[in-house]
Amino acid sequence: MRGYHVSKDGKVRKCTATKQECPLQHYPTREQANNALEKLNRDEHGLLSQMKIKTNLDSVESVVKDEKKEIVENLLNNAESRLSEIEKHRKKKEAQDRKLQAQQLKELATMSNILKKEQKDKEKLIKQQKKSQIQELDNIEQLMKIASQQEQQVAYA
Ligand SMILES: [Zn+2]
Repeated sequence: MRGYHVSKDGKVRKCTATKQECPLQHYPTREQANNALEKLNRDEHGLLSQMKIKTNLDSVESVVKDEKKEIVENLLNNAESRLSEIEKHRKKKEAQDRKLQAQQLKELATMSNILKKEQKDKEKLIKQQKKSQIQELDNIEQLMKIASQQEQQVAYA
């Protein structure tokens, strides 16, 4: 007799193998076999826990990875939409600037036309004034001529 062993079904039994060599580990007393079984259960439980923890860690890691990916994608999307917004704003501003410039040019052209017309009118007025001055001078000359003729006539009389 070789004492006690832990059977494959997880129970402590007295070893009864006689013909063939029993491949299991043997303990001299039932208590020792029980202790060994408890330790085995603890170890198995520990291993299971570790496996569970590792599985949890793996799934947490994959969730974090997915979240990271999502965050990066969101950041990229935000940056892209921000850029397109800035571009839109810039184009709008450019169009406004062009419109304003065109309006200013139009106003300048109008003002230039007004100034030209005023200048023309002024020149016309000056010409007319000159003409009437010349006319006046002619009149005065004519009057002086007449006066001098009358003077001569008075002198000869
Ligand atoms: Zn045995």
